[in-house]
Amino acid sequence: MQKLKLTKLTPHKQTDYWTVCEVEKLFETPFLELVFEAARIHRENFDPREVQLSTLLSIKTGGCPEDCTYCPQSARYNTGVENEALLAKEEIVSKAKLAKAKGATRFCMGAAWRGPKERHMPMLREAIAEVKALGMEVCGTFGILEEGQAEQLKEAGLDYYNHNLDTAPEHYEKIITTRKFDDRINTLGKVRNAGLKVCCGGIIGLNESRKERAGLLASLANLDPHPESVPINQLVKVEGTPLFEAEELDWTEFVRTIAIARILMPTSHVRLSAGRQQMPESMQAMCFMAGANSIFYGEKLLTTSNPDANFDAQLLYKLDMKPEGSELDFATILEQQEQEMVDYVAEHGLQSLETETMHPAHFAGHEVSGGCGSGCGTSMAKQQAQSSDVGYYKAS
Ligand code: SF4
Repeated sequence: MQKLKLTKLTPHKQTDYWTVCEVEKLFETPFLELVFEAARIHRENFDPREVQLSTLLSIKTGGCPEDCTYCPQSARYNTGVENEALLAKEEIVSKAKLAKAKGATRFCMGAAWRGPKERHMPMLREAIAEVKALGMEVCGTFGILEEGQAEQLKEAGLDYYNHNLDTAPEHYEKIITTRKFDDRINTLGKVRNAGLKVCCGGIIGLNESRKERAGLLASLANLDPHPESVPINQLVKVEGTPLFEAEELDWTEFVRTIAIARILMPTSHVRLSAGRQQMPESMQAMCFMAGANSIFYGEKLLTTSNPDANFDAQLLYKLDMKPEGSELDFATILEQQEQEMVDYVAEHGLQSLETETMHPAHFAGHEVSGGCGSGCGTSMAKQQAQSSDVGYYKAS
């Protein structure tokens, strides 16, 4: 197959229509050329040193009636994720304050629902209004929206609604049978009509073909206007889910996907989402080079562990990056976290620390789960997070 010359495809208007074949050809571009072109486009539209930091909180974990085959929160699979109650508004707001103190500028709330019921709306509206009053951007991922719900959320102060396309239209029914690809498009239409910004991406590694990966990216890029945020998730395989044995994808394929998302949607924030915990630092750095400029930062994604803010801050500091829209820089954030540890040790009468594995978030005794980052925007596994809650500090 002939290699496509990228210069023939870019620059382009945001409303250009991308065929699956065109996107497939981008996948065939020599790897370093593709990354270089994505980096060039990134630099035309953003400060490449800036990274947008979102913190994701699962406000309702587990027990979901949907059958997303990648998700440990589905009630249909035995994954050890319990059906938990909806968090109280006070707890949600206190987690948001903590996220802000660690440099996050956007707070995302995810619920493992098919969609919100009317009885949930008053609490959601109050929580959104109070988080917004902290001066943060607010994002919600609550599943399929009924008529009028997007307007209610917008009125309460919601900025973004996350609703992922999950996978290519042709692959959709192999992954989820309880809803259709078009249901996603319908909810996205309601979100846009209500004047909300859109966070919409998908998941890579669901046994899809490269053509289907191209189909997902083309579907995202043909949304008009483009989603403001595009989370690209790498499947986190969780035991008990049907996709636990899914085929491994080479790391270069994930970086290619990030680079192509950047090329197709030049002014969107492309977010490294689920699966980042499993990526070596060098791979994450390559993703930033290829145009990723947003991450879920610290805490835990809905049910899969996410590198805590401390590890994230260390990596981003090493890469000389800075948080977008925050007064803090990573050197200051690291200093603050170190102080938190010292305070914790003093408070708990500990005498020594195992510094390589320190997780200040766990010290504070809070556990924030993350969002599916996938279907409804809410998933990832709790097991690793729970196991990592012990053994970081030792009393001697
Ligand atoms: S991805 Fe979202 S909608 Fe699907 S099972 Fe998980 S929590 Fe439910």
